[in-house]
Amino acid sequence: MPQTQDGSHWYDVMPRASWSKYELIDTKQNWFEVYQLNENTYAIYEPYQWQEAISYLLIGTEKAMLVDTLQGIGDIKSVVDQLTKLPVIVVNTHSHFDHVSGNYQFETVYGLDKPFTLNNAKGHDHSVNAGNMTPDTFWKNVPKTFNADTYENKPYQISKYLQDGEIIDIGDRPIEVVFAPGHSPDSLILVDKNNRFMMTGDTFYPAPIYVYSDTSSFRDYANSIQTMLTYQNEVDFLLPGHNETMQPASYLAKLHAATLAVLNDSTPSTVSEAGSHTYQFDGFSIIVRKPLDY
Ligand SMILES: [Zn+2]
Repeated sequence: MPQTQDGSHWYDVMPRASWSKYELIDTKQNWFEVYQLNENTYAIYEPYQWQEAISYLLIGTEKAMLVDTLQGIGDIKSVVDQLTKLPVIVVNTHSHFDHVSGNYQFETVYGLDKPFTLNNAKGHDHSVNAGNMTPDTFWKNVPKTFNADTYENKPYQISKYLQDGEIIDIGDRPIEVVFAPGHSPDSLILVDKNNRFMMTGDTFYPAPIYVYSDTSSFRDYANSIQTMLTYQNEVDFLLPGHNETMQPASYLAKLHAATLAVLNDSTPSTVSEAGSHTYQFDGFSIIVRKPLDY
């Protein structure tokens, strides 16, 4: 949250030490921080806004894949253009505004043929996400081109619908698409077996995970975690959509145990005034509503 109950700010924990392990790439702007994770993978991170959203640029021999396009605050296209000259395919981990709001800048966007996705692709006017762009959600370095008073989420075209299990090969780099609904109806994970990476979007990150909204499904979430667990011997790192990157794949087993603990109510939870139940685990928490039959 932008401001916590004890009066501290979200950015008091910044900068997060874990990012200093990676090489920071100069892209002639100071809104996104770009880190090189390995020879053909970059993280594009927004540390100065409380979402701390992260997208990933995967470079193949023929094409590049941009996993999520963040919030439309800075010019992500100009950053991507500096990192690769290859044709870019955008794939979204899901269609929440903080993952798709730069989609409009790209010609090729692969998405899901689901009502939730198609509705979000129409964009949202200022009123929908204005509350996410209040002054207290920013820390520093806000681009001069950004105006919170007119902020909106621009519509984008989906050029191709993805199927569950589909492989997208960007050239010597097959990326498997695995549907993982729960956080949202159109959540998916991407498995890069060559690099032993799993891009997890908002299905996993090391912070409070929301399976709470009226378009979330806890049942689907628990099933998706079970599916993700089947990849535990094929990946070394989870690449999440917020806060921190390159989390150990051992989190898959912890996440699976956590969903069972929530299901069985076998670990303590705290209840908010709004009625959400937060279950705290080692390194992350899961926020749900009750009853769990959704
Ligand atoms: Zn989300």
